Amino acid sequence: MKMKRFGKRIFSILCAAALLTLNSCGSAEPLRDTFFSMDTVITVSLDAGTPDAEAVLAHVREETERLRLIFDAHDPASELSRRNAGEAMDPSEEFRALESEAFLWAAKTGGAFDPTLLPLRELWEAAEKRGSVPTGTELSGTLALCGWEKAATDARPRLRLDFGGIAKGRVTEELVRLLSETSGAGWGVVSVGGNVGVFGEKPDGKPFSVALRDPQNTSGTLGTISAQNGDVIAVSGNYERFYEIGGERYGHISDPQTGLPADSGLCSVAVICRDGALADLLSTALFVMGTERGLELYRAEGAVFEAIFISPDTVTVTPGLGSRFELTGNYTLRVAD
Ligand code: AMP
Ligand code: MG
Repeated sequence: MKMKRFGKRIFSILCAAALLTLNSCGSAEPLRDTFFSMDTVITVSLDAGTPDAEAVLAHVREETERLRLIFDAHDPASELSRRNAGEAMDPSEEFRALESEAFLWAAKTGGAFDPTLLPLRELWEAAEKRGSVPTGTELSGTLALCGWEKAATDARPRLRLDFGGIAKGRVTEELVRLLSETSGAGWGVVSVGGNVGVFGEKPDGKPFSVALRDPQNTSGTLGTISAQNGDVIAVSGNYERFYEIGGERYGHISDPQTGLPADSGLCSVAVICRDGALADLLSTALFVMGTERGLELYRAEGAVFEAIFISPDTVTVTPGLGSRFELTGNYTLRVAD
């Protein structure tokens, strides 16, 4: 079991690593630090001329550890785990902010993003372990324990939270902020699982170029997005993480209506936005909602994010990305209006 988890981790690491390629950033190789935290691999790349780079990178690791102790669902000592275990506690400001953002957008996405699905995740993890998919009775019984809308009643303390679809984006954004405000680096890139954040300006003055993996040919890419200082790009896809049961793969992004893997016809979704937690939660939500409902949300919210919807034959981009996305793969490109 341990090996299997590790195997899956490695797979998602490769996916994340290939998510990003930089245009030439000048002659010197960037400084790079890679470590494991938040159940994924984190990579920090910095301008080679960064003063006192060792101390800067050590500071990034410390800050990551501080945030991990708030949000890491796999650590029973984290704030999130203690909250889920029903411990009476005074949450940190970071916890409170992420929790209210999660519930705000649960409402705005009509529940496509639902931060209360921990019992459902545990059901699928147990199903994987025993080797058979959850029964209809198990799914409905488990969904009765979930539901963001129950927070409006006094049931909120009993809901158990899963920040797996949002916390990594917040960590990306926080590390980017720390580096851009304190490091003295001219530019840098932070990658946390499927989330990439950039800051500063490259010496050639060109925007950062972030390559998107082709979900149907995961050793290739399908296009590039140009990103600027402070942007976070989050990607959710059915090829990233999954439960393997009876030789079949079940995607880890659930449709909160059914408890089954989301099946909106999309292979993957990328969201670009300066609020990293929002980019992350929306990549998950839009994967559940599909292209048309996703575009409705985009219009209703007044273009506070940009998105790329990848279906088996078409790549649909929101209008704000029209000139910032370059298609290289074998898809039809549609710029939504
Ligand atoms: P991401 O890779 O950002 O799309 O996040 C996926 C993770 O979010 C899953 O592994 C679950 O922990 C959690 N998750 C799955 N489905 C949902 C959903 N509909 N709403 C919120 N979180 C979800
Ligand atoms: Mg997400």
